[in-house]
Amino acid sequence: MKTTIIYDNTSFRSELQSDWGFAAMVEIGKKKILFDTGANGAILLSNMQKLKISPDEFDTVFISHAHWDHTGGLRAFLSETSNVDLWLPPSFHFQSNVKKIHNHEVPATISHGVYTTGQLEGTEQALCVETSKGVVVLVGCAHPDMHEIFHTASRFGQVYAILGGMHGTEAKALKGVSLICPTHCSQHKTEMKDLYPEKYIEGGAGQVIEIE
Ligand SMILES: [Zn+2]
Ligand SMILES: [Zn+2]
Repeated sequence: MKTTIIYDNTSFRSELQSDWGFAAMVEIGKKKILFDTGANGAILLSNMQKLKISPDEFDTVFISHAHWDHTGGLRAFLSETSNVDLWLPPSFHFQSNVKKIHNHEVPATISHGVYTTGQLEGTEQALCVETSKGVVVLVGCAHPDMHEIFHTASRFGQVYAILGGMHGTEAKALKGVSLICPTHCSQHKTEMKDLYPEKYIEGGAGQVIEIE
């Protein structure tokens, strides 16, 4: 599994534009998922181009939650390609002529070893991917309680890593995981880095995280 951060509040590679929001490409074998779309379609598409990622490579778009900094680039992305499955939290009302729109309140399978937690606490879904090390969880802002996210993700196996926006999540809530990449809106990055230097990965647009 390979995750490339396309859009983030900070940039890991200087040629990529930073902006408040989050988007990442998640590759699992041949499957390519766009996780969230950032705030601005022009920045999303320009960063993708600089990373040599083409919109028509994706088969799936997964939106974590309805906030503008995760959905703002969606229309621009879909104007480049609509040949995708779109996984939306039920609280996000959106119409489009994509292949299919999927809304789930409860956990569901996206493809072999790839799942959604379903919409938790009425707001947000997390993406869960099975790897040989355990389950990798991607979060947009982690508005639902982290305990709730881990509890639901753990039905797919032991949680190994968590990547993405973690909002007000306290560092101690990540005690049980082996790898963390808190980025975007994460308010306690410094504490997380101090407490878990050995499992901390810096975020930012252009960062690539590969997990076997
Ligand atoms: Zn949010
Ligand atoms: Zn956000």
